[in-house]
Amino acid sequence: MNETYRQELERLMGGGILFDEPLSRHTSIGVGGCADALVFPGNREQLRDLLSFLRRHEIPYVPVGNWTNLIVRDGGFRGVVIGLKNMNDCRLLQDPASNLLLQAEAGASLSDLINLSATEGLTGLEFCAGIPGSVGGAVIMNAGAYGREIKDALEELTIMDARGMARTWLRGQLQFEYRHFVLPEKDAVILDATFRLSRSKKGIVAEKISEIRRMRKEKHPLEYRSAGSVFKNPQGQPAGKIIDESGLKGLQIGGAKVSEKHGNFIVNVGEAKASDILDLIRTIQDKVLREKGIHLETEVITIGENS
Ligand SMILES: Cc1cc2nc3c(=O)[nH]c(=O)nc-3n(C[C@H](O)[C@H](O)[C@H](O)COP(=O)(O)OP(=O)(O)OC[C@H]3O[C@@H](n4cnc5c(N)ncnc54)[C@H](O)[C@@H]3O)c2cc1C
Repeated sequence: MNETYRQELERLMGGGILFDEPLSRHTSIGVGGCADALVFPGNREQLRDLLSFLRRHEIPYVPVGNWTNLIVRDGGFRGVVIGLKNMNDCRLLQDPASNLLLQAEAGASLSDLINLSATEGLTGLEFCAGIPGSVGGAVIMNAGAYGREIKDALEELTIMDARGMARTWLRGQLQFEYRHFVLPEKDAVILDATFRLSRSKKGIVAEKISEIRRMRKEKHPLEYRSAGSVFKNPQGQPAGKIIDESGLKGLQIGGAKVSEKHGNFIVNVGEAKASDILDLIRTIQDKVLREKGIHLETEVITIGENS
């Protein structure tokens, strides 16, 4: 990115930009080359001005939340990465009928959202306990666990399009699939989401959340860096079981290893590069296709360039 654009970005964002930032410092799995710039807008107006600047100059961009479902290639990202962590307000809406609506900005963490639901004694989002993403990332991925998905609790969603125009969509107007949300506008950024929950008792919600966190700790290799489940479950069969049956648990390429604890996790056991992880993904896909005739589709999102 040229010097003029860098200066203009600094002016727009009022500082706080990380230029040529190694994204391995941010991704949960600990890989990724440098982004030309990593910026953290603090409010909608700043995001709107940023998007219209990027669009005007045809500078590529990608929004990110908590970086927990992302593999950034070793060559990094040419353009601007928009980190949403500073847009993280989370509140109970004054819904005169029932007080059952929680609204969260895209950068709020799922854990803040479910802690608020527990404090208010509202049930419906406990399945998100232990999913380390942001609200925006969870909507984009239609994150789920234990038979529920984020779309099940969603009431409405506000999205900013690439021109900086915000619009609110009702749940029924939106198209969700398994671990995928079809953004109604290309290159749009999720601003906030509103969830409709049901009344319960505070202690019961909190208890359910702790129970789910405990179960996840037992099953998942949380002692290592990872990006969660690497593959989608094909036709309802657990991908981890298929990988295990294919004898791939423990397989290692460079610093990337198929977890011994859970076959659908690739963990960074040292100084893994993105290329180690991507090679391991291809090796798993090839073997499973050859031996079982099943194509494993990735759930993790890969961005950026090869080095
Ligand atoms: C230990 C571990 C356990 C996990 N368990 C689960 C699980 O049980 N279930 C599950 O579904 N997932 C799980 N995940 C994966 C991940 O946490 C979820 O997919 C999560 O919802 C991703 O949110 P994020 O904010 O980290 O998204 P990111 O990784 O930051 O981004 C993911 C995608 O969303 C896009 N995006 C992010 N924010 C926005 C926005 N505001 N507007 C537009 N696009 C945006 C990004 O461009 C990218 O394409 C797990 C991950 C880990 C590391």
